[in-house]
Amino acid sequence: MNQGSISGFLTKPWDGDELRSAVLQFTGDSILSHAGRRFPSYLGSLFCAKSTDEAQGLARSFLADPQLMGCRNIVFAKKPGAEDKGPQILAMDRLSGEQVGSVGLDPDHRELFGDARIHANFQALVRSIFEPCRLACAAAEAWDEMRLLSERDALSGIFNRRAIEKALSVEWARSRRNGRVFSVLLMDVDSFKTINDLMGHETGDRGIQAVASILEQSCRAMDSAGRYGGDEFFLLFPETSKIDAAAAARRIQEKIAAAGILLGLPDGLSLSIGIADTQANPADAAQLLAFADQAMYRVKRAGRKGIGF
Ligand code: GH3
Ligand code: MG
Repeated sequence: MNQGSISGFLTKPWDGDELRSAVLQFTGDSILSHAGRRFPSYLGSLFCAKSTDEAQGLARSFLADPQLMGCRNIVFAKKPGAEDKGPQILAMDRLSGEQVGSVGLDPDHRELFGDARIHANFQALVRSIFEPCRLACAAAEAWDEMRLLSERDALSGIFNRRAIEKALSVEWARSRRNGRVFSVLLMDVDSFKTINDLMGHETGDRGIQAVASILEQSCRAMDSAGRYGGDEFFLLFPETSKIDAAAAARRIQEKIAAAGILLGLPDGLSLSIGIADTQANPADAAQLLAFADQAMYRVKRAGRKGIGF
């Protein structure tokens, strides 16, 4: 039961209840002492978890440790179909297959619900595993939210300049490794000051939001859209040449024009779009961006509402 150390002694004839309660007592003690040895490293990994899934996975694998559950007569099983009731563990008598108790937590991991027949040690074990897990989940959620806020533009919800620059440097490194072409598009809303002046800042803000949402909808899973600042936007198209990027840019222009009509803008809504890809052999990511910027200003000088390389 506990690797040779004797936990207790029962004199014959064994009484069924006395034997059962001794088994529960000693397996409980043995489980707790094994769990106690592993606990510090469990807590350490738990509080490094970056998502609630990861934290819950650690709690589950802690409980699934064969040594933890390796006591002779009690096995723990996940109750079939108990997913919606939160983590639940059944204590079974391995010989008879009979359930001797169960313990679990509600889906929010707040309330511990237990079975009166199960030894208090098991409940304590489950609580001591899931309580820090709950805290780690809350920490991971707060961390996620903070990361989201630090990456997103407050008005439009798409990536902010910092996040875009990070995505660009990641893509630059990837493209250096795999030799694949990628494109960046820099876009500036045409005569946006006039829109603000004629229609007011609120309509201007709605224009910014409309552009952002069109850009985001135009992204495939691997693409990124961001607001570079003011009325300037950015798209990153991995594994895309400037020719293919231009086809996407034309579809974006059409959607932007339709949004201008919806917003009731007398002079419409349009973008000047500059595109550059890595086939232009820029020295670094900043130069690739500079190429797109120069292309965009050529479009502005040529009369706005257009796409240029
Ligand atoms: P151009 O065609 O040359 O781009 O002309 P423009 O009038 O768009 O000029 P520019 O891009 O230089 O100016 C952008 C203006 O966008 C300046 C600022 O008043 C306005 N703007 C910047 N951020 C916001 C915002 O969050 N909301 C609103 N409503 N306006 C903004
Ligand atoms: Mg502008």
